[in-house]
Amino acid sequence: MSKIKVAELFYSIQGEGRYMGVPSVFLRTFGCNFKCAGFGMPRGELSGEADELSEVAHMFDRYEDLPLVSTGCDSYASWHPDFKNLSPMLESAAIVDRIMAILPKQRWEDEHLVITGGEPLLGWQRAYPDLLDHPSMQGLKEITFETNGTQKLSPDFASYLHRWKSHHDHDFFREVTFSVSAKLPGSGEAWAEAIRPEVVCEYEEYGNTYLKFVVATEEDIRDAERAVAEYRAAGFDGHVYLMPVGGVESVYTLNAKNVALAAMQRGWRYSDRLQLPLFSNAWGT
Ligand code: SF4
Repeated sequence: MSKIKVAELFYSIQGEGRYMGVPSVFLRTFGCNFKCAGFGMPRGELSGEADELSEVAHMFDRYEDLPLVSTGCDSYASWHPDFKNLSPMLESAAIVDRIMAILPKQRWEDEHLVITGGEPLLGWQRAYPDLLDHPSMQGLKEITFETNGTQKLSPDFASYLHRWKSHHDHDFFREVTFSVSAKLPGSGEAWAEAIRPEVVCEYEEYGNTYLKFVVATEEDIRDAERAVAEYRAAGFDGHVYLMPVGGVESVYTLNAKNVALAAMQRGWRYSDRLQLPLFSNAWGT
């Protein structure tokens, strides 16, 4: 039986992107290939908040007690090695049991599953078929992978996803979405590592794929335009969203309305972050 190192598993409302407002189970896997320490910082500077907190990591037994950060990656505990003990390695049957326990009717109805991270398309690709083929998961019809768009699909996982696509007219159909939050230079990650059009174009073969850029400044929007041009040149055909950053930081020059206006001017979509007004961005939301 396959195992996944699970950082968080909770039930909430999807606050972003295509499924905004949809009741969703969030499975947050452990591990990421990035750190995104540039979020909320002046260009060129990196946040040290996650590393500072790691020095007191031993004081926390539960995810929900961890401090929130206002700079860097807001999911730091889902990849920082000093917090790895908070993320148990669970067999797929145990994950399914937990999912059934948090669903309102203890079975899938109209809820959607979000597999997020960290970066959920790292090594865990090999474990998803076991999880998603479990008999109790048969009622699940919509799945989103929230990815940073840098990880190629393994041949095995790609052919597994293809099986669903080819069952479009049958009971077995599942709608797969790749919500690609590609990291712009404001994240602190290098362009060549973060903007991978050839990877994202491959996702389009297996599911509805869109780009979602988190922007805080006009410079970020110019970076998003440059990135979109690269994705389009490679053949990317999906929607583009702009989304404001979370938290409250003095370096942000664009509020949500300005981000919405910038999206409109370019014919792109706007994504809110409903988890902020609804739940104040707390863990487990
Ligand atoms: S890619 Fe996502 S999870 Fe990974 S460090 Fe960046 S913001 Fe955090």
